[in-house]
Amino acid sequence: MIKGEDTFKKIIAHCKEYGFIFPSSEIYDGMSAVYDYGQNGAELKNNIKEYWWKSMVQYHENIVGLDSAIFMHPTVWKASGHVDAFNDPLIDNKDSKKRYRADVLIEDHLAKLEEKIEKEVEKASKRFGDSFDEKMFRETNPRVLANREKIQSVTRRFVSALEENRLADIKTLIEELEIACPVSGSRNWTDARQFNLMFSTQMGSVSEDASQVYLRPETAQGIFVNYLNVQKTGRMKLPFGIAQIGKAFRNEIVARQFIFRMREFEQMEMQFFVRPGQEKEWYDYWKKERMRWHLALGFPAGKFRFHDHDKLAHYANAAADIEFEFPFGFKELEGIHSRTDYDLMAHQKFSGKKLQYFDPETNESYVPYVVETSIGLDRMFLAIVSQAYTEEKLEDGSERVVMRIPPALAPVKVAVLPLIKKDGMPEKGREIFDQLKYDFNCHYEEKDAIGRRYRRQDAIGTPYCITIDHETLENGTVTIRERDSMAQDRIPAEKIPDVVRQRISLRPAGNVQV
Ligand code: ATP
Repeated sequence: MIKGEDTFKKIIAHCKEYGFIFPSSEIYDGMSAVYDYGQNGAELKNNIKEYWWKSMVQYHENIVGLDSAIFMHPTVWKASGHVDAFNDPLIDNKDSKKRYRADVLIEDHLAKLEEKIEKEVEKASKRFGDSFDEKMFRETNPRVLANREKIQSVTRRFVSALEENRLADIKTLIEELEIACPVSGSRNWTDARQFNLMFSTQMGSVSEDASQVYLRPETAQGIFVNYLNVQKTGRMKLPFGIAQIGKAFRNEIVARQFIFRMREFEQMEMQFFVRPGQEKEWYDYWKKERMRWHLALGFPAGKFRFHDHDKLAHYANAAADIEFEFPFGFKELEGIHSRTDYDLMAHQKFSGKKLQYFDPETNESYVPYVVETSIGLDRMFLAIVSQAYTEEKLEDGSERVVMRIPPALAPVKVAVLPLIKKDGMPEKGREIFDQLKYDFNCHYEEKDAIGRRYRRQDAIGTPYCITIDHETLENGTVTIRERDSMAQDRIPAEKIPDVVRQRISLRPAGNVQV
């Protein structure tokens, strides 16, 4: 097993053991690709939402929030193109009866070729040492060149087959590349066919009158259909944005990798409405801005990269992903899309209502263009716990697992721990806890040796532990222990709120710069 997979299994187990994430309906053996967030997971999720909401809505004068319903008029999905084009190509292996996304099988194959190139470069770099000229090697080594050429030619065929919906060609490509089913090892494939990812259900109590409705596959459409309501009632002027956090549902063909790809998940989306012709400028702006948001959490820059799309969705004229290096490799975390006026024009056509904006500066009416930023809340959660999970060997030879969650996002900010359960320490501890609980999510714990209590707090990522000891009773000072360094300072008890607030603040002078 490769190291990443090993770590990933440990992270999943840790998330369960410490109340971050449980499989849904576990007593009934769970449900594929549906998960529940436990006591610490719910806190972390709320904190991520707050971090996103504040940096979008509160810190930008021209962005406001919205909370639209999950159910929408069925024609919304006809207009948006989801009824006709929100499909993934699926293919079944006849021997294992396992179902795959045909495009993912090919993408995985391409990723393996990329890996081969990187291995070749790594080997050569070790062989040649300091005199290694990587650029030259990449440009001249015959094996690297052959694989590069193969990647390019497969990508060309793959992209055009997808764009033109030539599913037979996709199957041929899978056969030619000799892609085998990871379960059965056979290359005995069915034909590829399109599968619509929207969940549908019936609305209404009488079956004859009931109409088919969909569970929204993205939150964006709730923003589009409300954009004029918000613009008029909020007296918004272009450019302006509308942000929304909410559930989305997709009947994913292959749901895998824990909470990376689920059938019920949450999105944090922002649609930014701009004057036509200015979308490129705003697209570049939001690409930069969103990367800055990620980096402000203090994770290494090397963990993130942009991936510009070759194949654009039917609504976009430019699109890029921010990819994060999960334990299973670099994968999409967030999408930034220049969606043109596609959606608003379509809603105008299907609804028969004008969706134009009157621009007081130019005295013209027009349908705005839209630049969207769309991030999966659950994927962000996974990125954070993957990056935070650390196994450490300590100086005394013992080991600890510490979740280095950015303090501003940590589920519990402060643990209040009386050193021993007597001499008035629990009473003093309770007194401090009762003051702090109005400002921060706190834990109070008096059971077990102090070292074990520290470990438990490390494992859920609590940035600060306050310990009440004999000195507290004498002079009113406590120790404050920092999670990552384990360093302890002594401070007066009444200073705790200020010290903690300053250290976990989202303000630029604090730990996180938004
Ligand atoms: P993918 O290519 O991984 O299927 P996508 O390109 O279809 O994703 P978008 O439609 O751009 O995704 O959705 C925006 C964001 O929503 C994604 O960047 C991702 O973070 C999140 N997301 C999409 N599908 C899922 C899912 N099934 N489970 C969890 N998060 C998801």
